[in-house]
Amino acid sequence: MKEARSVRVRGVVQGVGFRPFVFRIARANGLGGWVVNEAGGVAIHVEGEETGVRGFLDDLTAHPPPAATITDVDVRAADSIGLGTFTIDATRRDTAPTARISADLPVCQDCLRELRDPGDPRYRYPYINCTACGPRYSVIERLPYDRANTTMSAWPMDSLCDAEYGDPANRRFHAQPVACPTCGPEYRFEVAGAANPIRGWPAIEQAVLALGRGALVAVKGIGGYHLACDARDAAAVAQLRLRKFRKEKPFAVMARDLAIARTIAELGVETEGLLLSAARPIVLASKKAELPDVAPDTEEFGLMLPYAPIHYLLFEAGAPDLLVMTSANRSSEPIAFRDGEARSQLLGIADAFLAGERPIARRVDDSVARVGPLGPMILRRSRGYAPGAAAVLPVKRPVLALGGDLKNTVTTVVDGQAFVSQHIGDLDDIGSREAFQQTIRDLMTMYDVDTEELLLAHDAHPGYSSTSYAAGLPAARKVAVQHHRAHIASVIAERGAWEDRVIGISLDGAGYGDDGSIWGGELFVGSLAAGFDRALHLRPALLVGGDAAARFPVQAAAGFLAQMETTAKLDEPPFSFPVRYRRAMQVARSGARSFVTTSAGRLFDTVAALLGFTREITFEGQAAMWLEQLACRGRAEPYPMPLVDGELDFRPLLEAVITDRLRDRAAAEIARAFHCGIAQTLRHAAEWLRETQGSATVVLSGGVFQNRLLLAETAALMTGGGFRVWTNSAVPPNDGGISLGQAAIAAFCEERRA
Ligand code: ZN
Ligand code: FE
Repeated sequence: MKEARSVRVRGVVQGVGFRPFVFRIARANGLGGWVVNEAGGVAIHVEGEETGVRGFLDDLTAHPPPAATITDVDVRAADSIGLGTFTIDATRRDTAPTARISADLPVCQDCLRELRDPGDPRYRYPYINCTACGPRYSVIERLPYDRANTTMSAWPMDSLCDAEYGDPANRRFHAQPVACPTCGPEYRFEVAGAANPIRGWPAIEQAVLALGRGALVAVKGIGGYHLACDARDAAAVAQLRLRKFRKEKPFAVMARDLAIARTIAELGVETEGLLLSAARPIVLASKKAELPDVAPDTEEFGLMLPYAPIHYLLFEAGAPDLLVMTSANRSSEPIAFRDGEARSQLLGIADAFLAGERPIARRVDDSVARVGPLGPMILRRSRGYAPGAAAVLPVKRPVLALGGDLKNTVTTVVDGQAFVSQHIGDLDDIGSREAFQQTIRDLMTMYDVDTEELLLAHDAHPGYSSTSYAAGLPAARKVAVQHHRAHIASVIAERGAWEDRVIGISLDGAGYGDDGSIWGGELFVGSLAAGFDRALHLRPALLVGGDAAARFPVQAAAGFLAQMETTAKLDEPPFSFPVRYRRAMQVARSGARSFVTTSAGRLFDTVAALLGFTREITFEGQAAMWLEQLACRGRAEPYPMPLVDGELDFRPLLEAVITDRLRDRAAAEIARAFHCGIAQTLRHAAEWLRETQGSATVVLSGGVFQNRLLLAETAALMTGGGFRVWTNSAVPPNDGGISLGQAAIAAFCEERRA
């Protein structure tokens, strides 16, 4: 008696060698039938002996291909149709494409072995890949994922590649970007002005020679160009800072391998796990040795390991074993990814180019992650993660959420799956705005979204460019979402805890509040399903000069200190505030129009200024990071920050900072007492909310929670007080997570209407 089953598999199951895998296990279990890619995933029909069918179903979920992620397997009884053999059928295109697009993958062990084998046809070939590895999102121009729809369409396969591509038993079966040195693209080494570029392996050797001489070489990677130089060559690093106009912001370093990485940083098991994970992100890790000027004034390096074949080949050819690898751009511009653009953008910056011929369909920066007190935390979610699903939401309509204006990402929800885009950047930059629009077009066409059904979510800030952009987009309905509710909702969405009533604590830089003031120190109570009510907040201060207050900690300080009676002379030692402070204070005291703010970010800046960070910051979050590092070196009891009439009053806390500073207490202790003071007041606030409103789950999100010390202290105090503590893990707690939170809130606005 023959058994038959119809099986549907969903998840990341296309373009990852899933059909050949099904083919192999069907044959191994002696079954006939077929497998086909369909719009929602993979459909399978198997028939044969009962034991074979059972074996097949076990194998299906036991050892899927490494790059596949199965989210759902649906098995139904079927009628046997007398198939003796198993076949792989062509792709079905009858319904909307909701199959997931895989993120880009690092080169796999099998391909690495071939890359290093002189007898292999792809020996030292920088575009080697297979179904288990290689580019995906960065080469896909449209769906379905077939070679003709990728940036490889210009290179017809030769007989070797074609045979492997067509052989179900081969690991390159339907590997869309498959290529070899005979038929595929190459890398070229180009020096500005020189006529004939060098191609192939000699190009890589030339690049290595240039790096050895201290040159800055632009290297085309997976999602864009990097600028590379020898990380131990102080003169080269100094040149890079000068030419990139990047004064102090740390550069990422690519280490040849884990052993080399261990020589400069303290790596625990979890950090190494992140370094080796499929996304191959830049991972922040404590310094163990110094590399001059690479990451000044910080105790961490941003480290990564090779992920594209070209990186392995550079090291193989003898490149310095620690390379600065920073996005190729001038500061604040987006990373260059088109060849012509890279040439002009990097004129006067790069001494030479190691340019690959395969075009990049869209810019995808390196991701940034770290091991935090509550587990891995993603700080920039991009290559290797995007456009993967970050959450599931119970919404039938398609949703598009446009994110915030800083650290922008865009989220699309299709069939309840929330796909978060790559990191796009700050929308005040014209290149980022173009990338933003391109990403929206990409996601809308890839997932074939019907704008007549579309639910469009955007930030509530009337001045955001993402908000103006939303006004011009067609949609069935538009929802303006308050920034800090979106931060809290991003955590809830990740967890799928839609109904849970929580205390949501959002400590952040700036976001537009319900009352038109600038929020950033908010405590909410509620659930995603029922909505979040603002229950408590930081005592309002002034935001003198608007956004400029975020660049000058002393200017932020004026807005807070104007509310206090302090008689300390802050333009004298030990404070020595520059004249900008006095001017800002005059503005604040004059009653001239200033914004009102509850920003926790500006409170951290204020304390940084009081402890000595009185200059302009040169990258976002710099003063707060400085303060955190200072605090890590001290031990102290918390400063008081009482809860008065629904407000967390910062005045006693700042008084204590000023008094202790005048008493010459160590700055590290003061910084520590401040961090502990914030953590303790949050615990008291949460206890009060638990008593009055009855929730024992605390959600922590917003850019300020990138501060590990604050997160650790707060989480420890909350846990000790019997609270459950949740924070982000799939999307960043900073504004990179806003689009997911917006999508979640919009989805539930729709739920409540229905
Ligand atoms: Zn491979
Ligand atoms: Fe924010």
